Amino acid sequence: MSRFSYLTDLECTACGAVHSASEWHNVCTLCGKVLYARYDLAALGKTLSRQEMEARRPDPALGPLWRWHELLPVGNQAAIVSLGEGGTPLLPAPRVGKQIGLTHLWIKEEGLNPTASFKARGMAVAVSRARELGARALAAPSAGNAAGALAAYAARAGLPAYVFMPQDAPEPNKVESLVAAARLHLVDGLISDAGAIVRANAGPRGWFDLSTLREPYRAEGKKTLGLELAEQSGWQLPDVIIYPTGGGTGIVGMWKAFAELETLGWIGAHRPRMVVVQAEGCAPIVRAYQQGERHATPWQGARTIAAGMRVPAALGDYLILDAVRQSGGTALTVTDDEMVEGTLLLGRTEGLYGAPEGGATVAAALRLRHDGWIAPHERVVLFNTGSGLKYPAPTTLPINVPLLNPRDPDLSAKILPDIG
Ligand SMILES: *Cc1c(COP(=O)(O)O)cnc(C)c1O
Ligand SMILES: [Zn+2]
Repeated sequence: MSRFSYLTDLECTACGAVHSASEWHNVCTLCGKVLYARYDLAALGKTLSRQEMEARRPDPALGPLWRWHELLPVGNQAAIVSLGEGGTPLLPAPRVGKQIGLTHLWIKEEGLNPTASFKARGMAVAVSRARELGARALAAPSAGNAAGALAAYAARAGLPAYVFMPQDAPEPNKVESLVAAARLHLVDGLISDAGAIVRANAGPRGWFDLSTLREPYRAEGKKTLGLELAEQSGWQLPDVIIYPTGGGTGIVGMWKAFAELETLGWIGAHRPRMVVVQAEGCAPIVRAYQQGERHATPWQGARTIAAGMRVPAALGDYLILDAVRQSGGTALTVTDDEMVEGTLLLGRTEGLYGAPEGGATVAAALRLRHDGWIAPHERVVLFNTGSGLKYPAPTTLPINVPLLNPRDPDLSAKILPDIG
């Protein structure tokens, strides 16, 4: 008999301690590190084939992400809270590829998710699982997009959400949180300060704490990035993945997805070289990578326009760094100006309005191609993790907008000249 979910238990990524999945756990009770959801992949491999997966249409009421339900932690379909997340396109990007010098470039366009960022994937799964386990209230610190996503999924679940974000987080993140009637708090500090507030209050107030990688299920939602990528690339993973990294859920989620798919026998041992890109003004993972460390020291004075990457410390630092090193990847920084240029390049060549985080992946690809780290014919995937519409306008936007008076007899002379 096939089951809706093949979840078995939770396993500590550091000490291996096994925890029951039928109760809510945050981090490992023995060592405080990240817990991963584990599945009975041997049993699943006997009941589901890759071909059956490919043929499976999304349940119209649940949307594309839940096509992967056997590999997700929610056992009771009725607990699922969906806004139609996942199933984003893997867009060939030949025009920006030409500018970068890459003949096989794709963009995973995550701005199409509910709440216009890939945070929807993680929150869809974590909120569904929290509801299944009987949560009465949910809380999370956020640099911006996670709060908006939590607010939306909590509203849809009929659960109160308490969200905490830096006071200078992007305005749309505050607005979307308030529209979904979350209890929004602004913090005079960074996401790490917001996280400390959540941890201090979650227990006494009975909130389920959904901080990045401090519970095992958001990473499961982000894992679907890797599952989709594998399927969309015909089960032949690309050579290079460039990922704008903050807390790292996406990169470790994808890395986990690839391991599970290999265990199922759906992909081989080939792995993309995983590239972490961070902002010059907040690059704890890049620094740790360069210094050969497995843990990152917190970044002081974090500053960048890419709110999702303004994360001075990541609980899953060792998991991110392991994925980068085991894959033969690398880690690099780009400046905010380079991100803006990357965003504008993407906009004018492909018509995509990416978040600054997406612009950062374009800037990183330019640099890595220029340095010869990526060869011209390698297959490269950039992650545009959110929509640019959620951020202030690019600072160097070329604005040349004539104001036309419809009664002006000389109007046609004021229309912009043809593009040469
Ligand atoms: C949160 C966020 C990131 C960073 O994602 P992690 O998986 O936490 O590293 C990147 N881009 C955007 C738009 C985000 O909201
Ligand atoms: Zn442990």
